[in-house]
Amino acid sequence: MLGVNSVPVGEGVPEQVDVTAGPVPVHVHAEPGVVATVPLPVMKRPEKIAALSTMDEQEVRNCTKCVLCEGRIQTVFGEGDPDAPIMFVGEGPGQNEDEQGRPFVGRSGDLLEKQVQAMGFERSQIYIANVVKCRPPNNRTPLTGEVDACSDYLRRQIEIIRPKVIITLGGPAAKLVLGVKEGITRIRGQWHEYPGVSPAVPVMPTFHPAFLLRQYTKENRAKVWSDLKKALERVGQDSS
Ligand code: SF4
Repeated sequence: MLGVNSVPVGEGVPEQVDVTAGPVPVHVHAEPGVVATVPLPVMKRPEKIAALSTMDEQEVRNCTKCVLCEGRIQTVFGEGDPDAPIMFVGEGPGQNEDEQGRPFVGRSGDLLEKQVQAMGFERSQIYIANVVKCRPPNNRTPLTGEVDACSDYLRRQIEIIRPKVIITLGGPAAKLVLGVKEGITRIRGQWHEYPGVSPAVPVMPTFHPAFLLRQYTKENRAKVWSDLKKALERVGQDSS
């Protein structure tokens, strides 16, 4: 880990940024999905790569389990290191992600990458996924049924990757992953647990990069950096 305290979040990002795609204030299903009670053996890296690839290619890419399949250009499965210690989870793809088939591209992705680098990682060293794998039309709120249909893919991604820490980005992702009803302002910065796998994974909710870009204040940047530092400390503790 490099320079944990040496690089401010969002350094180099202009104060005035026009961002149209933002965190979607939504109703999301509050249930975190099927709770695993029996710990599965941790996969070796080649097994993880194969399992993720198979899920993407044989299930997600052709998935028609909810109506979001009708408007997508392509699915956005997720990407990154299958052995990543930190997994970022957002609520769903936006227009850029739908077009490119990758999570967190465009301005939000640029800021997330800066945050990741400030934490001492390259983007390729962490894993990034979304709760729903297809873009809701006009970036609308993912509906409960859509989240229900898709959430098992995320649960299985988490189960395969077994990150040491999950960082949820924005309120909707936090609500789904944690099964809580409180808004992001209330729960960010506090440790929670994702109980969908066993052992449960620590979760740190923080603001969505698009929100931060829209409200790029010193106070908000400090809050996010505080959240990210807590995640880093947890990873360091776990790895020590
Ligand atoms: S959002 Fe998820 S459940 Fe719905 S069609 Fe896409 S991959 Fe399938």
